[in-house]
Amino acid sequence: MVEGVQLTVWMLPSLAAVILSLAGAHYARGRPQVSGSGTLYALLLALAVWSAAHIAEVSLTSASAMVWAAKLQYPAIAATPVLWLIFALKYSGRDHWLRGITRPLVWTPALLSVAVVLTNERHGLMWSSLALVEGESYVALSIEYGPYFAFHVVYSYCLMAAGAAVLGWRLAQVGRWQHFAAVLLAPGLGAAVNLLYLSPLYPAQWLDLTPFALALGTSVLCWSLLHPTSPDQRPIARSDVVDRIGDAVFVLDDKGCILDLNPAGAAILGDHGDSPIGRPFAELLDAPVLGGPQLESGGEVRDLPLRHSGEERTYDVRISMLQGGRRTRGRVLVFRETTDRRRIEQGLREASASLELANRELERLANTDTLTGLSNRRHFTSTLEAELRRALRHERPLSLIVLDLDRFKQVNDRFGHGMGDRVLVSAARAIEEVVREVDLVGRLGGEEFAVLVPETDLNGAFRLAERIRAGIAAAGVPDPRGQALRVTASLGVATLGVSGSDADTLLLAADNALYEAKGNGRNRVERAQKPARIAERD
Ligand code: GH3
Ligand code: MG
Ligand code: MG
Repeated sequence: MVEGVQLTVWMLPSLAAVILSLAGAHYARGRPQVSGSGTLYALLLALAVWSAAHIAEVSLTSASAMVWAAKLQYPAIAATPVLWLIFALKYSGRDHWLRGITRPLVWTPALLSVAVVLTNERHGLMWSSLALVEGESYVALSIEYGPYFAFHVVYSYCLMAAGAAVLGWRLAQVGRWQHFAAVLLAPGLGAAVNLLYLSPLYPAQWLDLTPFALALGTSVLCWSLLHPTSPDQRPIARSDVVDRIGDAVFVLDDKGCILDLNPAGAAILGDHGDSPIGRPFAELLDAPVLGGPQLESGGEVRDLPLRHSGEERTYDVRISMLQGGRRTRGRVLVFRETTDRRRIEQGLREASASLELANRELERLANTDTLTGLSNRRHFTSTLEAELRRALRHERPLSLIVLDLDRFKQVNDRFGHGMGDRVLVSAARAIEEVVREVDLVGRLGGEEFAVLVPETDLNGAFRLAERIRAGIAAAGVPDPRGQALRVTASLGVATLGVSGSDADTLLLAADNALYEAKGNGRNRVERAQKPARIAERD
């Protein structure tokens, strides 16, 4: 046997506790998706350390080494009730109770206990006397407790009881009675064994079975609560889901006070100092529409604007009533953020509007003669065809004027192409000036123009053609010497029925009349009287 070390059966329960705790810790570590499993892992590690240090205490024989082993247990002993409470709150979805100052406050007495035990020689507040007792085959440390110890015990018991109460209450709320025994086992067994150990009647002062009882209870609890195939895990796991979804969820009571909310909900409310639980929802969120009479029996608000984290955001809010018997017990509000969706929709709307604008511009360009801004030949003839069909269907009159500038070649020859272009533009404006809004003016090519005249017979179109002729003859473009350069035009008029009923024949008839006008001396208008024939012109 090694000097200063004794092997006794008393170390067996603590050895079992180490194994149980480590197995439980390993198990808890494998369930990170369950709230509180991380804290349960830490708690089981603390129990393993406690038990291991206890093994050291009972297996050592020197008084100072035993005292150190006893001291080493205290960080774990003090941490155990705090971790238990934190686990209970997390698992029950109530860890927001331990926000802010509360968390360090809960830890303070535990740290104090460690400090007191480490400095015990100076004051004896934790242990008033330590003595070695020698049995037949072993040596053990007998401890008498000092005044601080009572506080340490009471505080630890309170935290254990609080944790058990929260957990038990929550399990009862969701109807998980099956887990009750497991929840009460850890603190119950631990407390019972510990009370027995502390009682003067306990026969084996050197053998503290508390870590064993706690390790056993906690491991059973761990297995029971975290077992992934346990169908009973469902209800609380569901509240985990609610905590993790991106939507903000609020549960309000019948008076509109907040009963519960998830972290996304807390983020929407922002920081209001105290916990929002129990406070009127309307006081914390400035959205009067949600309390409006139209939502008294539930419903939906779309794209509600809210300012949150310094940004303007929008939410779809669905309000559902919580019915309890015949009366409403409260409401559930679910906020789904629509900011991004709305931004995308807005972007799409803008993109499609500018696309439509671009399309229209493209269409306009495709239909327009670039020099004069009039309809080009393609657009003019397709409109002529459509108007002809309409006029035939409704038996309405329709006429066509075709015109060609006289001796235009000379303008180009004398003054250059640029001047010729200006004369073309001026002639186009002169035509537009006299036609009606419903008439369509086109440039068929070169110095040849056409006017589509709906709802007008041959004589009416002739009168219009005369006005056009006069308008062109009167318009002048200043030449390089500053004098007005005037051109004339010859025009031919054809009308639907008299000269044909399709675009080609009508255009040909008007063209023939135009050539007639050229032949008759130019600067004049001629009417096509009968259906035209191509041969006629030659
Ligand atoms: P007519 O009285 O018999 O019509 O004689 P004209 O000189 O007008 O007839 P012709 O067909 O011989 O000449 C047409 C001229 O129009 C030829 C061409 O130089 C000119 N022209 C055609 N398109 C344009 C254009 O876009 N700009 C300019 N400046 N001239 C053009
Ligand atoms: Mg000409
Ligand atoms: Mg010509």
